[in-house]
Amino acid sequence: MNNALKTIISYGLWPALLAGCLAVTVFGMHIGHGILVFNIAYLSLAVTLFFTERLMPFEKSWLGNDGQLMADLCHTAFNKGAVQVLIAVGAAFGIAEAFASDVGGHLWPTHWPLAFQVVLGLVMIEIGLYAAHRLAHEWPLLWRFHAVHHSSKRLSFINTGRFHVVDTVASIALSQPILFLFGAPIEVFQLVSATTAFIGMLTHCNVDMKFGWIAYIVNTPTLHRFHHSKKLVEGNTNYGENLMFMDLLLGTYYNKPNRPSANIGINEPMPDNFLGQIAQPFRRRPVQNQNLSEGSV
Ligand SMILES: [Zn+2]
Repeated sequence: MNNALKTIISYGLWPALLAGCLAVTVFGMHIGHGILVFNIAYLSLAVTLFFTERLMPFEKSWLGNDGQLMADLCHTAFNKGAVQVLIAVGAAFGIAEAFASDVGGHLWPTHWPLAFQVVLGLVMIEIGLYAAHRLAHEWPLLWRFHAVHHSSKRLSFINTGRFHVVDTVASIALSQPILFLFGAPIEVFQLVSATTAFIGMLTHCNVDMKFGWIAYIVNTPTLHRFHHSKKLVEGNTNYGENLMFMDLLLGTYYNKPNRPSANIGINEPMPDNFLGQIAQPFRRRPVQNQNLSEGSV
């Protein structure tokens, strides 16, 4: 591959994949099959990243089998199920409608173009997502659950959904209700959720890409590799889920030219299997959590 083509691909791949997935999802919503088409786009992104990770890996040593494939897939499925239950319970009790009508049903700028409304939604939920993520690192009780995600010894699109279900529910509880509170339409809610899902998978992928100024606006694999570092000066940074403005405002943004270490993970024990990982936060800890004890941001 010649250098010019390589540069175009390494800068253009991330925006092209995100834009492509979003365009397909919007089309799906337009024809009345939003959820089905979103799932097709999400699976297609996973397949694309599977091959791209092998064609242009950031870290070759992360391509091998880490023995966590089944655990990663179980966490992903369990989280997806839990989110569906939350949505079903919310719908059954009319929580969203009650929020919207009683509090701020008329505040949302429904007259804006849909893309602007989605950007507004992403900005609004980022405040809660940042708070939830930073609390998960700085509050020992929540770190117990978030440690499951950070126990991964490699980054790949496969471990995008490797979160303890309590971690996922806490993150959603602190972020999504604000959209209901302001009366955001369902299509904005769906597109904000879809964007978060696509960016999440792209953030974890092991593909060698470059970003330039984009990394000051959105979360990228480069920024997130620093977040998974064992070095606290790198690891307790870049809490943003989709957007980076909270990290920039609060001084936790970290983006240096040095290559982040491939030796990622946590300094405490974590069971190898899914059920053990689900139970681990509820056990007494024999080892002090170094991620907290060595000084948080
Ligand atoms: Zn984290």
